[in-house]
Amino acid sequence: SAGVVVAGAGQAGFQLAASLREGGFRDPITLVGDEAALPYQRPPLSKAYLAGKTDQEGLFLRPPGFFAEHAVAHRPGLRAVAIDRDARRLQLSDGTDLPYDHLVLATGARNRPLPVPGAELAGVRQLRGLADADALKESLATARAIVVVGAGFIGLEFAAVAAARGLPVTVIEAAERPMARAVSSEMGAFFRRAHAAMGVRFAFGAGVTAIVGRDGRAAGVALADGRELAADLILVGIGVLPNRELAAEAGLPAEDGVRVDAFLATPDPAISAIGDCARFPIPFARGLTPDGTVRIESVQNAIDQGRCLAARLTGKPASYGALPWFWSDQGPHKLQIAGLSGPGDASVVRGTGDAFSVFRFRDGHLSAVESVARAGDHMIARRLLTAGTPLTPDQAADPDFDLKGLAL
Ligand code: FAD
Repeated sequence: SAGVVVAGAGQAGFQLAASLREGGFRDPITLVGDEAALPYQRPPLSKAYLAGKTDQEGLFLRPPGFFAEHAVAHRPGLRAVAIDRDARRLQLSDGTDLPYDHLVLATGARNRPLPVPGAELAGVRQLRGLADADALKESLATARAIVVVGAGFIGLEFAAVAAARGLPVTVIEAAERPMARAVSSEMGAFFRRAHAAMGVRFAFGAGVTAIVGRDGRAAGVALADGRELAADLILVGIGVLPNRELAAEAGLPAEDGVRVDAFLATPDPAISAIGDCARFPIPFARGLTPDGTVRIESVQNAIDQGRCLAARLTGKPASYGALPWFWSDQGPHKLQIAGLSGPGDASVVRGTGDAFSVFRFRDGHLSAVESVARAGDHMIARRLLTAGTPLTPDQAADPDFDLKGLAL
């Protein structure tokens, strides 16, 4: 048998392989990945690894011996370039191809390029992989003034690490607040103050028109309002694009992500997609997007989709419905999110000061909970959202209401 071939050896692809073996799958498994390293976790790249608090070995999802022990063929440094669906073969960048019984697309996402003149200058960096993190670490060692383009999770995590080294950092953001797509305005306001306390400066409602160069290197950032900010290190963190081209070129639906059904299957029964590259329906997205489908960029989603698909491929099919949850470490503060909210959801705050949660409601139902220094709220929220236990905004707002009791 040709077994399972996975395009992409990241968080989702690795999890699928590991869970297949745990589930007793006996056919060959091949993980094709275009990066050089063993499968690794990305979150520390903008946190502990960047800050020098963990080394490369600390990033690996499993030690090198795991792959031979579990008969998982990891093929690093190889790109999947095309799918021959009729022949069930995956073509690779070295000119060879691999037959498959089942093909899994776990190709993740890549950074959205900054569409302005000068974006290719030395000193302009992005952060997605280990190689990016190593280059960024090196730049940080000599940087004198830093501009971050984009106040999303990665930009803010990086800003916190750079500010902790005493470097001047300015974050430029097109929206009026940080993490505008992902969190409530209440939580955004807290992190704005928290970063200001770390010494980070902000320019909101600001558009970048060019990276200004001197002697072939970035020297500053030009803004639409005419200002120019000096910077010798510029980190661009303006979101990602799903790696959907393999699927699209093979004739599979793949607008803003590889389209899969509730079982993570594409319309071709021999091909599935998981992780950052996949667009899928989930009950938690009801009322959030026009068709109830989402793409989720998180470790939780990559792991749970890897597990869900492994279960189907070992004869235990179930639709995907895991509760989305997420975290982000920014300086001394850890943000935890359970559920999926949109900018239109209502907010109710519980707690005060540096320790609080924002309960989000959509159409009167709890949609998500964002917490800072309230790990208990986060765990309760996971239970309430998973079970679908009703909670009213008034109950959430009442400090005497027994949330824990409701979740038990
Ligand atoms: P990836 O892990 O990106 O793996 C996809 C792999 O496929 C990559 O190695 C890619 O190079 C490879 N590939 C692409 N195309 C091909 C091809 N044609 N052939 C072969 N290989 C290919 N999530 C959280 O929940 N919490 C966090 O705090 C957090 N922090 C993050 C910090 C950073 C700096 C980054 C970049 C991400 C962070 N994330 C975080 C997101 C999380 O890491 C991703 O959601 C997760 O890695 C997605 O897993 P994946 O397997 O779908 O994609």
